[in-house]
Order: sequence, then C-alpha cells, then structure tokens
Amino acid sequence: MRRAIRPWSYRPDARSTWSATAERLVLSSDSGNPDTAKFVGEKLAALQLGLMSLIVQKFGGSSLADAASVKRVARRIVDTKLAGHQVVVVVSAMGDTTDELLDLAEQVSPNPPARELDMLLTSGERISMALVAMAISDLGADARSYTGSQAGLITDSAHGAARIIDVTPGRIQEALADGAIPIVAGFQGVAQDTKDITTLGRGGSDTTAVALAAALDASVCEIYTDVDGVYSADPRVVPLARQVPLVTYEEMLELAAVGAKVLHLRCVEYARRFDLPIHVRSSFSDREGTFVMSPAAIAAAVAEGRAMEQPIISGVAADINDAKITVVGVPDKPGRAAVIFRALADAGINVDMIVQNVSAASTGRTDVTFTCPQGVAQKATKALEKEQGAIGFESLLSDDQIAKVSLVGAGMRSHPGVSATFFSALAEAGINVEMISTSEIRISIVTRVDDAKRAVQALHTAFGLDAAGEAVVYGGTGR
Ligand code: ADP
Ligand code: ASP
Ligand code: MG
Repeated sequence: MRRAIRPWSYRPDARSTWSATAERLVLSSDSGNPDTAKFVGEKLAALQLGLMSLIVQKFGGSSLADAASVKRVARRIVDTKLAGHQVVVVVSAMGDTTDELLDLAEQVSPNPPARELDMLLTSGERISMALVAMAISDLGADARSYTGSQAGLITDSAHGAARIIDVTPGRIQEALADGAIPIVAGFQGVAQDTKDITTLGRGGSDTTAVALAAALDASVCEIYTDVDGVYSADPRVVPLARQVPLVTYEEMLELAAVGAKVLHLRCVEYARRFDLPIHVRSSFSDREGTFVMSPAAIAAAVAEGRAMEQPIISGVAADINDAKITVVGVPDKPGRAAVIFRALADAGINVDMIVQNVSAASTGRTDVTFTCPQGVAQKATKALEKEQGAIGFESLLSDDQIAKVSLVGAGMRSHPGVSATFFSALAEAGINVEMISTSEIRISIVTRVDDAKRAVQALHTAFGLDAAGEAVVYGGTGR
C-alpha cells in the first residue's frame, strides 16, 4: 500500500534520493557563480524541508494548441522544476491534430489497417514532445523527449485500444538522475509480442501519465486541461456547472465511463489501483483544481477541516457515442440470451445496457435490446445475423440516434428518493426514457440524442447542482 499523501502540499518522501541529489548540487555549485550558488542553496533548503517531490504533469491538446501555448506550457514546467520538484511531462497532440489525422486517413482509405492507423496517430504526440522540449531548452533547462516506446510503455497488441501491461521507465529515470526534464509522448506504447507501435484509445494520454506516475512512485499526477477541474457536468453543456474540489476514484470511474471525457477511464482505474492522487486543473490559470483520491484520503481531509462534506451527487453526464440494437422476436426459451451474448463476445463487442421485454403470450417470443459503441454496431449486427438460426430471432433493429444520460453520486447508497427526483425531473422536461440501468452509485437512461442536453440540464437543476456563476472554459474546440 502507498503512503498516506497530502497532495495539496505535494510533500515527498523520496528520502532515498536526497543524499545523491544533495551531493550533485554541492558539486555543481563549485562554479563560483553567485547565481548558481543561490539556486543550489535554495534547492538544498527545499530538499531539507522535504518540499521536493516527483510530479508528473500531463498537458492535453487544448493546452498545446499553437506555438504560443507550447511556450506557455514550457514556462509552467520550468517553474515547477525551479520550485524544487522533479518533473516528468506527458504531452498530447496539439489542438485537434488527432482528429485531423483521422480525417486524413479516411480520405486516403475507408478502412485503414489498424497497425498503420496507430503509426499515423502517434505522430501527433511526437510533434508536441519535440516542440515542448525545444521551448524548455530555450528557457535554459535540460529537456529530453521520448516516444511511448522509449519511455517503456509496454502494451498488448490491441491496436486502437491497447492496454498497458508493463512500464519500464529506465530512460526516464536516467534523465531525472541527470537533472533533465523528460517529455513523454502520450497515448502510445509498443506491443510486447509484435513490437508494433500501439495507441491506448482516444484520450489515452491521461493513462500514459498516470501509469508513469505510478511506476515512478510520483506524489501526484497533474492533468492540465482547458477547464478548472472536474465539474458537476460538462461546462460546455451546462454553463452553471459547479467545480467539484474532491471526488473519489469510484465516482470518477463512473463519470468517466458514462461520458465525462475530462479523464480517460483507464487512467482512473490505474490511479485507484495504485492509490495515486490525480489533480485535474487548468493550464490557463493557477487555481487549484479537483483532486481524485481514495474515500479514506477524502474522509481525512474532511475530518481535519480541510474539505467540505461530500455532496450526495457528484455529477451528470451524457454519452452520445452508443447505438441501440434490438433483437426482435427471440423465442422465450432457456439459452437464447446466452447465444446472443456469446456471439457478441466472440466478435469482441463490449455490451453496456441490456433489456429484455416481457414475452408476448400469444407468440412466446420476446425482444432483447442492448447498447454498444456506435463504431462496432455494424460488427454486432453481422455477428448476430450469423447466428440467426441458433437464436431464432425474426429481425434486427439498429438505432444510433440515442444518448445515455447518467447521474453519479456515492451518496445515492444511503439517500432514498434519488430515483424519484431523477424520473420526475425527466418527466417534467418531457424526456422519454427508453432504457434504464443502475449501479450502486449511478442511474442511467437511454433517450433520443436530440434530448440529451435538455435531460442533463434538467437533472443538474433538479439535484441543486447549479452554481451561482458560469464556469470558465479557457480553450479547446470541444471536438
Ligand atoms: P484535453 O485536451 O486537455 O485532454 P479533453 O477535451 O479531453 O481535454 O477534456 C476536457 C474537456 O472535457 C472539457 O473542455 C469539457 O468540455 C469536457 N468535460 C466533459 N465532462 C466534464 C466534467 N464533468 N468536468 C469537466 N470537464 C468535462
Ligand atoms: N491525442 C489523443 C486524442 O486526441 C490522445 C489524448 O489527447 O489524450 O485522443
Ligand atoms: Mg483528454
């Protein structure tokens, strides 16, 4: 188990590096230059006070939109280093580069080989890493850029959605030992078996950052983006969204899984596994953002009066990337659902919500409806058609004009009436509910995609989440 951390003070316990670092500092201060002597003196003081720690900082595409932003980010990184911390940086592709590369690939080939698509997409992050390293070098610090493969991000070979299976950051540790700032290209790794370059799925740079932070035993992983942290809803959808100062891994996992793209789902899974605090904040302001931490760490903060009592509901989110598939007229006999979901599993399809209607007495047949990502809906229908004989269904319906709208909050466990407020709010807003699913701390429904914004807004207001003023969105195109 990791140590208890107070992320707001970034206190380190990297005592083992203390004597080696101190020795290096004393040696480097022999230059006789008074500026160097002052710098070294300050660093030694920081080390002695235990104020120095290892911080991983990740900058998203919206924070690296153009040359000026690259320079601004470089300044921020160097300032962290000058404050006495060791810094490892992870970068995303600039602005909407990844989307633009995808558009380009589509113009060249309607169905590009997954290996080649990954090779193309990883180039976006490589542009950023080199430019950030150059800008840091201009500020007088030593920066070295590394691809995911060079940084030791070892994955499986699932192109486009690879999982990290090991992190061997030897070169990053060497760079740190030399006093340099390593800049790592996010969102990518190298497959252990094929040695091909892989990507971790859209938004995957967050996961690179957390995985590296865990492997390097960093005090905190800072995720810099274009809003001041995690909000009670996407501030681009709900202007009165409220910034949430603290959120548990569990709540953030649910929020990320249902469409709050501010953090990549797998990065939250990783952070929870290693009990690593994530600090989501804006690269455009100096405000403290949102800490994603364990319930124990949050309870300690509340007990010590450093944080307010946690609200019942942490947020509302919408996901418009799913499709709904209905298998019509399935004979109501044991084993038919098993054949349906076995066929989907064998085709590698992740199914989310599932509903089975009550069967019609006259026909002895029922409908089975499920949701899956739009990108694999066609694959899903093909897989089912192949098994039509074994399943015995009459027809298939596929609908991508749907949205999943969800409410998340750990307080749901102990507070009755959440479902009543949820469905009353939707009814008052005239939103039709097509499917329902719940977990201990989440309620989700499927509705028409055109109603999603109104549903999110209605729920946000009904649960008293509206803030007094509008949230600031500093940059990005929201693409
Ligand atoms: P980056 O380029 O920094 O990785 P992303 O676009 O991936 O940024 O994530 C930041 C965006 O996530 C915000 O601009 C915001 O529109 C969106 N978002 C969605 N849900 C939330 C939420 N609950 N809190 C904050 N931001 C959210
Ligand atoms: N550049 C990649 C994307 O747009 C990864 C990331 O930004 O995290 O999805
Ligand atoms: Mg992102």
